[in-house]
Amino acid sequence: MRQEGVVAGVPVEYLSMNSVQSYVFEPAPLPAIPVAGQRERLPVHRIYCVGRNYAAHAREMGKDPDREPPFFFMKPADAIVPGGGRVKYPPGTVDLHHEIELVVALHRGGSDIALGDALEHVFGYAVGLDLTRRDLQSQAKKLGRPWDFGKSFDQSAPVTEIYPAATHGHHAEGKIMLAVNGEVRQQGDLSEMIWSVPETIAYLSQYYELVPGDLIFTGTPAGVGAVAPGDKLVGRIEDLAELSVDIVA
Ligand code: MN
Repeated sequence: MRQEGVVAGVPVEYLSMNSVQSYVFEPAPLPAIPVAGQRERLPVHRIYCVGRNYAAHAREMGKDPDREPPFFFMKPADAIVPGGGRVKYPPGTVDLHHEIELVVALHRGGSDIALGDALEHVFGYAVGLDLTRRDLQSQAKKLGRPWDFGKSFDQSAPVTEIYPAATHGHHAEGKIMLAVNGEVRQQGDLSEMIWSVPETIAYLSQYYELVPGDLIFTGTPAGVGAVAPGDKLVGRIEDLAELSVDIVA
C-alpha cells in the first residue's frame, strides 16, 4: 500500500531533487536512458537482476535448472552505460564475462502485483549486458559472501535505448544472441526463460515495492565467457535491438 508522500518507504522530502533547496555538495547526475522515438529519457531508479533464468545457463554454472523460486541480485543505477560503446575493463578481475539479457523498464510501481496485471507495469524493453567479474563472483560463492564485487561495479550494465511496449510490443519470445569479435558465443530464445517477465515482476513485487524507473535484467542464455581489452561485443534480440560494446584497457 503506497502512503502519500512516500516512495518505497522513504518520505519524498528525502528523495525529491525539487523539494530540497541545497546539498552539502552537488548530487551525482540522475542515471537515465534514451527512449526510442521520443525526446524524454527514462530515469533509472533501481536495477534488479534475475540469476540463472535459462536452464542451459544454469547447467553450465553447475546448477540443476529445476524450477526453484527465482533469486535476485542488484546493480547500482549508475552502473548503466546508455547506448553501449566504450566500456573500460574493470579493476580487480582477470575473468570479465559477458551475459546478454533482455532488460525490462517499469513505468508503474507497486507491491504484490498480480500476475495478470504485471505487463501493464512495463514501459518498455532494451538489450543489456550483465557484465560479471566471474572470478570474484566464484570466490564469493565459495566463501558464502555477497556477490556485489562480482556483479555491481562501475559500467557493469551497458544497455540500448528503451523501446516502449506501447509502440514496439512485448517480447515473450525471440532469438537472443551475443557475438565477440564476430564469433557467436551466446544463443537462446526469450521463450526459454525459466521465469517469464510477468512472473518475475509479480514475484519481485512480493519482496520490494517496485517504482517507476526500475529495471529488471532477466537472465542470460548459455555460452557466457571471458572478454579482454580490444574485444568487440555485439548482442542482439530479435525484433528489439542490437547492443554494441567495445572493451577498452
Ligand atoms: Mn545475468
